[in-house]
Amino acid sequence: MSAGAVGPQTGTQEAGEPSTEAQAAQSGTVAEGATAPGQAAARPGGRPAGEVRFDDVPLGEEWHSPLYAMACRQFARAADVLSLEDEVRTRLLEPRRSLVCNFPVRMDSGEVVNYTGYRVQHTLTMGPTKGGLRYAPDLGFGECAALAMWMTWKCSLAGLPYGGAKGGVRCDPHALSAGEIERITRRYAAELLPVVGPDIDIPAPDMGTGEREMAWFYDTYSQSVGYAVPAVVTGKPVALGGTVGRHDATGLGVVFSIESAFEELGWSIQESSFVVQGFGNVGSVAARELHARGGKVIAVSDIRGAIANPHGLDIPAVLRWVDEHYYLEGFPEAEPVDGEEMLELECDVLVPCAREEQITEHNAERLRCRLVVEGANGPTTPAADRILGERGITVVPDILANSGGVIVSYFEWVQSHQKYSWQALEVQERLRTQMRAAYDRVRATASELECDNRTAALASAIQHVSEAAKLRAIYP
Ligand code: NAD
Repeated sequence: MSAGAVGPQTGTQEAGEPSTEAQAAQSGTVAEGATAPGQAAARPGGRPAGEVRFDDVPLGEEWHSPLYAMACRQFARAADVLSLEDEVRTRLLEPRRSLVCNFPVRMDSGEVVNYTGYRVQHTLTMGPTKGGLRYAPDLGFGECAALAMWMTWKCSLAGLPYGGAKGGVRCDPHALSAGEIERITRRYAAELLPVVGPDIDIPAPDMGTGEREMAWFYDTYSQSVGYAVPAVVTGKPVALGGTVGRHDATGLGVVFSIESAFEELGWSIQESSFVVQGFGNVGSVAARELHARGGKVIAVSDIRGAIANPHGLDIPAVLRWVDEHYYLEGFPEAEPVDGEEMLELECDVLVPCAREEQITEHNAERLRCRLVVEGANGPTTPAADRILGERGITVVPDILANSGGVIVSYFEWVQSHQKYSWQALEVQERLRTQMRAAYDRVRATASELECDNRTAALASAIQHVSEAAKLRAIYP
């Protein structure tokens, strides 16, 4: 293990761990929408040429982000359950390959701004790497490393022939024009040329990116090699070889997970209430599908706050409102609620679909749900996991519940390679089957190892990757 890495020893630390908020403050990360010291407010995430500041980047500490420490803690717990050898632990803990780039972009005003981009490939053992591109003002190396590691476990659990990756650009897409985002995306894609490719590393959308950015990435890559390479990204528009169903896949997969859990618990969606945090790609589709199945979605939220109606929100009407007004606030047939308080509303299922570290040691004690199904990546901290476990609140973990996106991305990649498109129904049925198999695998492992679902999901995934790593052995 390299010096300073968060290893199994610190990884197993649980009691008395510092609050994530305090860790975030120490590492210098900032919350979404906030402006870090030294950042120009008009260009969040970018540094105007000639104005390089060193006090806004935690120099030399990129790996020590709270999120990477959290991913390592989760890994260590599962590795302990598996009694994984130290040698394999170290190989699986640290990202195999990482790229950080700083590149200039000309803004609409003519000004040149320098942006930082990342791409982390967690393991190259399983095949090409796969993972999203995130555009966020507080994106850092450690966050990408954590998300890349989770992607490895997610792909492994779903039985996909990939290692995990994650990347993106530190920028605030809401403060940029479409032209500026296009120039950032194309330049970032050009910076990544040495490490991406249809059989090397295949990006996809994540927070702050979507079909549009994938189309630009695909075009930039194809221009560089001289012919069209649709398999270099997934989540592209259908007109460019994207698959039908990719847009809805993650949210739909979350609902498939809820259905699997309900079947086991003997619960019914029609008789249950749901709180959905985050109303973007994942949350809005999950809420729509729960509503369509007769579920009562009593609250939804976005970055500005939450809206609630104890009788159930009219989700199609909420979707029309968001189409027109972008934010949820002002929706007439609901009460405004504080975004943090909505997590504590009494409901059967809480579905966090916004971002990391939302259920922490500070609010886990106050949650009034019976089940948590994680649409977002890393929404529950290890300390909160422990509290939820003690309170008998079951968690369907992220690497299982939100794997629908990468599963359908895999279908898209296969179709791009085959140059043959599948029908919508085939995509949906294959997704349902693959997610059900992963759910059953997690529940069987949980019962065999007598552990919670998260540890079982990670153990099952890590076991598979560690076996492959041992079989491939060490080169030379
Ligand atoms: P998105 O950008 O489309 O939507 C995010 C939503 O969360 C927005 O409504 C935003 O306003 C809201 N939000 C942000 N911070 C919030 C906060 N503190 N409180 C309440 N709401 C907040 O992103 P997305 O693609 O829906 O991704 C959401 C999560 O799901 C992320 O953790 C992402 O990594 C994960 N995920 C996404 C996919 C995918 O296919 N898009 C796949 C797997 C996992």
